[in-house]
Formats: sequence, C-alpha cells, structure tokens
Amino acid sequence: MSAIKFLLLGLSLSIGVTPVFAADEALLSPKISQRHLIIEPQLNLAGKSNPIQVALTLDACSGDIDHRILDVLVQEKIPATLFVTARWLRRNQAAIEVLKAHPDLFAIENHGAEHVPAITELKTMYGIPTAGTPAAIEAEVKGGAAKITEIFGRQPQWYRDATARYSTDAVRQIEGMGYKIAGYSLNGDRGASLPAATVARRISYAKDGDVIISHINQPKRASGAGVAEGIVALKKKGVQFRLLKDMPARAAPNVVSETMPHHESISQKSNKTPSKISTKATEPETVTAPAQ
Ligand SMILES: [Zn+2]
Repeated sequence: MSAIKFLLLGLSLSIGVTPVFAADEALLSPKISQRHLIIEPQLNLAGKSNPIQVALTLDACSGDIDHRILDVLVQEKIPATLFVTARWLRRNQAAIEVLKAHPDLFAIENHGAEHVPAITELKTMYGIPTAGTPAAIEAEVKGGAAKITEIFGRQPQWYRDATARYSTDAVRQIEGMGYKIAGYSLNGDRGASLPAATVARRISYAKDGDVIISHINQPKRASGAGVAEGIVALKKKGVQFRLLKDMPARAAPNVVSETMPHHESISQKSNKTPSKISTKATEPETVTAPAQ
C-alpha cells in the first residue's frame, strides 16, 4: 500500500466514512479485454455453502413501492439489497421510513440519480437514452450516492446501472470511483415483465451463490406477487439470504457485444450500430423496468 493510499484510508476511517475499495479489488476491470464493447456482468457469491446462500437484490428504478414484497421481507425477516435511484427516493418517503427502521434487513445501494444506462458507445439500450459521456456517468453515479448518503447516512459500495449493461470504459470508471459493479446470476422477473407463477418458479429454483435480480417498484404488475411467493418458498427450503455488502463475490464480464474493428474511427463508430451486437440487445424484456 502506498503512503498516499494509506494516508487516505486513515483519513477516511478517522472521519467515519466508509473507505473506498482499492483499485486492485475491482471485480471486473482486470477481466475486460480491449475488444469488449458492452458487457452484462454476472455476479455470484463466492464459495460454497450448505445450507445454500443467495443474495436477493431488488431494484427501485422509479415509480412506487411494492408492498407485496416489502411486507413479506419484513414479516419473514429476509435480508435484501435494494438498488435505488435518487428519483425513486424523492417520491417514496413512507417506504424509506420502513427501510430505515430495519437496517439489519435492508442494505441500500446505488442505482444512479435518474436511471441512466452507464454506456458511452451506444445512444440507447432497450430504448433508454444512455449516459453517452464519462461526465454524465459521473453525475449519475454521484447523484445517486449523494441522495443515499443524505437519507441513510451511509455511502453505497455497490453500483448497478439502469439496464445492468455497461460499456467497458464505464465499468473501469465506476470501479475507479470505488464501487463494485452489481451484476446478477438469476433474473427473477425480467424487468417485472413475467407472470407471477413464472417469477415464483424461477426464484424458487435458485442455486447456491445465486445473486437474484427483481423489482420492488412495480406494485401494479403481476411479477411482484411472484417475487414474494418465490422468496418465501426459498426460505421454507432453508435457504439463507445474505446482503451483498457482507459477502465475498465473484464476477464475470459476460460480453454482450464486441468492439468495432480498430480501423474505424470514433466518428464512424458513433453513427453505426455495432455489427456484432447480439440479438439479445433487441429483446423487449429489460433487466430493469424502464418505467420512466
Ligand atoms: Zn432500474
């Protein structure tokens, strides 16, 4: 550890701020190749466990709170990591009070200020306009963190952007800001788009180490009932729920598309859709609900 790093760590500890991760702890940056353009990182809890352990992560992009899920989490004492935007926090005061009343159950992490994809290379992802520039990504990440710190008095450690897809420069940038990128391994509700029974079945099949993603901001969609049913089924099976912040994790880049050939200029790149982008990118389902 360099003297400056040691000094900064000591300084941050002395003023009670969570120290940022050292750059060499980044989960993804060392695994990204220059050829990669867009990645949708996979994340699992590290190691093996018996009974099995999973991490439940729930996104609050915009919209409201889904009490079918929140009430079950509280009643059943099931811990969950919530990825919230500043936008969602501004309009869900009652839910915030519930979250604050159960700090042992809920870890609040960063889903950005305004639900903007951390992508510079493409103009849209799933139809949502991307950040486009490193400055916009920085504003999105810092805006989300500032609101969480203001309300919960804690600096988030994990970041998940609007679509769980990232351009690789954005991954390096966000990890350089001290975050771990929150991928997932089990998509429970596909952007709150699936029927309840399907969601319940998918979640109830979780394997050891799975990081489950679903949504807690769509009380009018059928999916939420399935999330509640699925997590209760897991608990009945003896599955242990863990918070991301408490667990070692392992990540893989999961490349969605690769970069343009090197002879193409940046200006050409910006005017073309990458030829190798997978059909997966044009599926209507989004990882996160794009309820704007
Ligand atoms: Zn979202």
